[in-house]
Amino acid sequence: GLPLRLEGVVHLYPIPGGDVVALRGVDLRIQAGEIVGLLGPSGMGKSTLLRLLAALYPPSAGRIWIGDTDIAQLGPRGRRKLRGRTVSLVLQGPAVNLLPYATVEQNLAFAARDRASRHRVGGLLELFGLGPLRHRVVATLSGGQQQRAAIATALVPGPRVLLADEPTSQLDHEARDDVVRALFDVQRNLGATVVMVTHDPVVARELPRLLTIRDGRVGAEGRSGEEFAVL
Ligand code: ADP
Ligand code: ADP
Repeated sequence: GLPLRLEGVVHLYPIPGGDVVALRGVDLRIQAGEIVGLLGPSGMGKSTLLRLLAALYPPSAGRIWIGDTDIAQLGPRGRRKLRGRTVSLVLQGPAVNLLPYATVEQNLAFAARDRASRHRVGGLLELFGLGPLRHRVVATLSGGQQQRAAIATALVPGPRVLLADEPTSQLDHEARDDVVRALFDVQRNLGATVVMVTHDPVVARELPRLLTIRDGRVGAEGRSGEEFAVL
């Protein structure tokens, strides 16, 4: 995994008649190989933070180090080189991350950009319990199975940071537990740094570290129980 460090990160969305201030000065450190949850009410900037960390676009101001690289300084080409390969983002809703009418194995194979990533496909199918489902068409799978396939697909290029936006929303309890286990496997077995947005108190309780965003800043950090009591 790689460490993440944010300093004074501000993000504005220009809209007619003014700017929406999504983040107003975020300072944050996440160690290499940590698994961290990001919670807080809707509209607080959680998705914005994930999209900035995923190098989808640069922040309006501030610094975002992924390892030794300040991705806020990169241009579009630099960000594109990083996306998927160094940091991978699993968007909210499993279906948007996958080709619904391709098989699980085809989805993983399409994500492979080089020999090293092609070699990862088999191991990832096994790690996420997708071996028996490899020839199933994604659209025929349950939500939990799709989410595990989405996470496995995001890992094919070998990213060292995995970001997930509400990976357990819309899942039943059993599927949710499977997905949480899968994310811990990413951290433990693959050594990746994992940052996930979650609204689910059960998921939050499992995580060793939680961050909240309030008023566009990363606020009180705490252990699962006490922190979640505030929400
Ligand atoms: P969260 O993930 O915590 O719900 P977001 O990061 O999605 O929060 O949004 C933070 C704020 O930025 C909200 O006020 C939201 O309406 C606004 N916002 C998010 N994306 C855009 C966008 N593309 N254009 C304009 N405003 C946006
Ligand atoms: P969530 O809260 O579940 O993260 P949002 O409703 O904040 O989802 O955002 C969903 C999508 O809509 C995102 O791609 C975001 O960029 C966009 N979006 C959110 N708020 C606005 C807005 N005020 N204007 C334009 N696009 C927005």
